[in-house]
Amino acid sequence: MISSALMEELKSIVGSKNVLSKKDECFDYGYDATLTEYSADAVVFPTSTEEVAQVIKLANKHLLPVISRGAGTNLSGGTVPHKGGIVLNLTRMNRVLEIDTQNNLAVVEPGLVNADFQEILAPYGYYYSPDPASMKVCTIGGNVAENAGGPRCLKYGVTREYIRGLEVVLPSGEVIVTGSKNKFTNDGYDLTKLMIASEGILGVFTKIIVSITPIWEAKKTMLCSFDRIEDASNTVADIVGAGIVPTTLEMMDNLLINCAEDHTKVGLPRDAAAILLIEVDGYKEDLPGQVETIHGVCKKNNVREFKVAQSAAEVDQLWLARRTVIGAVARKRPSYSLQDVTVPRNKMPAIVNKIVEISQRYDLPIGVLAHAGDGNLHPLVLFDERDKIEVEKVHHAEGEICKAALELGGTLSGEHGIGTLKLPYLEWEFSKEAIELMKGIKRLFDPNNILNPGKVLGV
Ligand SMILES: Cc1cc2nc3c(=O)[nH]c(=O)nc-3n(C[C@H](O)[C@H](O)[C@H](O)COP(=O)(O)OP(=O)(O)OC[C@H]3O[C@@H](n4cnc5c(N)ncnc54)[C@H](O)[C@@H]3O)c2cc1C
Repeated sequence: MISSALMEELKSIVGSKNVLSKKDECFDYGYDATLTEYSADAVVFPTSTEEVAQVIKLANKHLLPVISRGAGTNLSGGTVPHKGGIVLNLTRMNRVLEIDTQNNLAVVEPGLVNADFQEILAPYGYYYSPDPASMKVCTIGGNVAENAGGPRCLKYGVTREYIRGLEVVLPSGEVIVTGSKNKFTNDGYDLTKLMIASEGILGVFTKIIVSITPIWEAKKTMLCSFDRIEDASNTVADIVGAGIVPTTLEMMDNLLINCAEDHTKVGLPRDAAAILLIEVDGYKEDLPGQVETIHGVCKKNNVREFKVAQSAAEVDQLWLARRTVIGAVARKRPSYSLQDVTVPRNKMPAIVNKIVEISQRYDLPIGVLAHAGDGNLHPLVLFDERDKIEVEKVHHAEGEICKAALELGGTLSGEHGIGTLKLPYLEWEFSKEAIELMKGIKRLFDPNNILNPGKVLGV
């Protein structure tokens, strides 16, 4: 509970219009893309670093939890205020402060929506490479805090590779700057990298210096369908083994092909066991050779149909199907849970077989969606959250998927983070000593444990 005197102090910092305190209003900012939902005691909408710093200082003085929030699209429980406190909604800090094409950089505020940034950069002939499938709504601040990936991260790397520096409000309310506008720095500990993927537990980003990239002159998009999911998964490592790193190499199984097709009607092959959506980019004259090599690898792996998109509209349709498929599963079952285990790419066939086996054993539909080139899988478990027995089965099935990935040399999360969802599995991946070290870093930054308590490390 926040006292009325404290509420008045919050209002004096950000203005009374920028504080919500009614339970139902706060509830609107207490969810994310998992199934959990709680109500904070207050939601504040700061518009400047100074306001963020003052709110944090106040919260630290009164030992109130602070949950930074972008668009709330995270898939790990990261923005759910399960211990109450203040939700710090950063979406009004959404300006592009600087675009510098000569140094390939931009400075942005954390609440900027990823797709809006891409649109602003396009007239300059530039783009920002990390492209989570949620890019139409998710924010750059949320992307940094989760180290977001996306389809084209196979060739160009995840968010971590694109963040040069940060302005951060620490849990004490002090403001620090990490990194710089320079692409390379080698000065002391890399605090920028420490902040990336910290899921809101170490500091609040208020400015972000990012690298931007010139748009290539050409790209080719291919849709490859297979009768056996093993053939599709084997193709993934074989393409990279043949010396080609495509921009994207995405996979969807039959269940998800049909969900996507029901939703978008773009003409996906409903009877295929799996499809790969592959894109290459570069100089115009280099692309036909790459497409030919990829076609050869697909043929070796029994591809049934290999289609190269013939128009920009066709490319857009294919990506529409891919980017909206997670929401499209609502047509099949009312609830879904999505993991993001990652395995070395040549272990894709093994993990996919294991997921199919788990799905059959638990009698639960599990769709296989993957940034396959990165070995990053999104098994989508479909169920009904009102059925408590089914929910229990989902927890067991997901635990088994996580364990299987680790046994294959993988990790619990390729891009969605730990939050609260994967907390129970953390010690399967890390030793007690490593977890203690991480907790020590958290204590150093946040001795009063006010920033997103209970997340990532469970403290
Ligand atoms: C349909 C769908 C598709 C998705 N596809 C992808 C994908 O392809 N790749 C991928 O990586 N993820 C994907 N995601 C997950 C999600 O979109 C990403 O994790 C995204 O980066 C979250 O951004 P957000 O603005 O919604 O952050 P939020 O969900 O609001 O917050 C995420 C975390 O960041 C912290 N945070 C937010 N802003 C700040 C800040 N300024 N300072 C410090 N901490 C902060 C929060 O406390 C929280 O812990 C998908 C999600 C959905 C629902």
